[in-house]
Amino acid sequence: MPSYVAVHKHQAEECQAVFDDLKNAGPLLREVSIYCTCPSGDHGGYFVVEAANAEAVQEALPEKMRSGTTVTAADAISFS
Ligand SMILES: [Zn+2]
Repeated sequence: MPSYVAVHKHQAEECQAVFDDLKNAGPLLREVSIYCTCPSGDHGGYFVVEAANAEAVQEALPEKMRSGTTVTAADAISFS
């Protein structure tokens, strides 16, 4: 299944609502590690997810996160 990189941004005051919504996210996101950048002051998160297409990733996001998230197809490559 293809991989997608999702980049999410939100405002500082939206943190708790985003975290609460993610706890109830659909199965596509349950096994995903989200790299949260909120502690740095750059509020958001990055994650990689396998899905049928980018639309499936957007649809799996809690509704409040959809407009603040970009989803881009990506391939893992190695230089070793
Ligand atoms: Zn935040």
